[in-house]
Amino acid sequence: MIYLDYQATTPLAPEAREEMLRWLGGPEGDGFGNPHSAHRLGRAAAAAVERARDRVAALFPAGGRVIFTGSATEAINLAMRGTRRKGAIAVSAIEHAAVLDTAQALGRAHILPVDAQGFVQSDTPLPSDSAMVCVMQVNNEIGAVQDSVHWAKRARAAGALFLSDAVQAAGKLPVAPADMIVVSAHKLYGPKGIGALWLADGVELDAQITGGGQEGGLRSGTLSPALCAGFGAAAKLALARQAEDAAHIAKLWARARALFADWQLNGPQDARWHGNLNIRRDGLDVARLMSDCRDIAFSAGSACASGSGRPSHVLRAIGLTDAQAKSSIRLGFGRYITMESLEAAAAAINDAASQQG
Ligand code: PLP
Repeated sequence: MIYLDYQATTPLAPEAREEMLRWLGGPEGDGFGNPHSAHRLGRAAAAAVERARDRVAALFPAGGRVIFTGSATEAINLAMRGTRRKGAIAVSAIEHAAVLDTAQALGRAHILPVDAQGFVQSDTPLPSDSAMVCVMQVNNEIGAVQDSVHWAKRARAAGALFLSDAVQAAGKLPVAPADMIVVSAHKLYGPKGIGALWLADGVELDAQITGGGQEGGLRSGTLSPALCAGFGAAAKLALARQAEDAAHIAKLWARARALFADWQLNGPQDARWHGNLNIRRDGLDVARLMSDCRDIAFSAGSACASGSGRPSHVLRAIGLTDAQAKSSIRLGFGRYITMESLEAAAAAINDAASQQG
């Protein structure tokens, strides 16, 4: 199997896996303590959690705190539901469903349209009663990299908080400053089942999960030291390897563009995370392509929309017709893809696509 779905999830880094094993614990080991217990086992687990918190915090700008959550989706819900500010939540049209659906569920969504590349125009008006602005740093479907610094300023000028979904950016690009930032371990070679919400100093929220008062009272529930340790190790590694990973991806992108030269590119060419190649071919039957290329893992639209039968809201928002959106595929590559495997996958996909005529 050639794995080309790095925006859906990334393989667990061996370094992160190694670090996790110590804290999975068994009856013979001493790694199973509850990090909230006062005895020696508990204190050792708590120290592992705090070491991981420091490593994850290094992803973010200075001047804030990290709250561990079960996923980025949970972190987004905590940020949006937990804010004390009332008023509109202005969200870009290409946000992840975790942001869009939560803003809609709260009945406070104001959608900011995007242009044909996926960018929110810099002078797009914000509602006068804006409480929060959400413009994601890197889009998960088309890789568009927004001007987060600009949107943080616009939000502040409107008296709103800026929530940045940095799930696809963290560990790959410097995470842009914001009032609240969301990341997920499994998108940066860490384990699934853990995310984080970073809160700038002074940002206060109301808890959405009550109980034992863990995570400063904001997210009750016993933390998993193994998941925290894996997240911390993955974050540390991603920062140490950021330039090396980016150079590898730049080479893969250049090759992939040449290998798929006769496909149309969806989204921007330059202001883009180049580990994402979203392309289309008119009339392509993507379900058939996927079935013909069973040994290659790639995605039709976003992983979340896949299988729903609905065309991607991101591709629709950049102006593609339903038919164009449905004839699009997303290839995502990263640290562990070799040039040879990318070339083999491209040959198989191109072959299967040309057999469709
Ligand atoms: N935001 C973006 C941009 C994503 O790509 C994803 C996952 O696909 C999420 C949020 C949700 O992350 P999680 O799987 O940790 O809930």
